[in-house]
Amino acid sequence: MTSQTTTTWPTDVLYRFLTIVGATVDVVPAPTVAVPDRHAAVCRGCDARHTNAIGVSHDLMEWAQTHSETCRALPRPTI
Ligand SMILES: [Zn+2]
Repeated sequence: MTSQTTTTWPTDVLYRFLTIVGATVDVVPAPTVAVPDRHAAVCRGCDARHTNAIGVSHDLMEWAQTHSETCRALPRPTI
């Protein structure tokens, strides 16, 4: 479970939450043409995603925290 926290984060990851099975929920920029400051929390285990309208909002961080506490999906191994 320590490999996810000791490796270098991808450069676009602003915040990272560790799930109970060792995957991560990453808060990353997710800009669109209409909403250039949009951000998303993305689970790397099950691909669940929550986006917000602007910046890194409290509800975005709260979704990432709550999802990381309950998700049991593991990311597909990279070979
Ligand atoms: Zn998940």
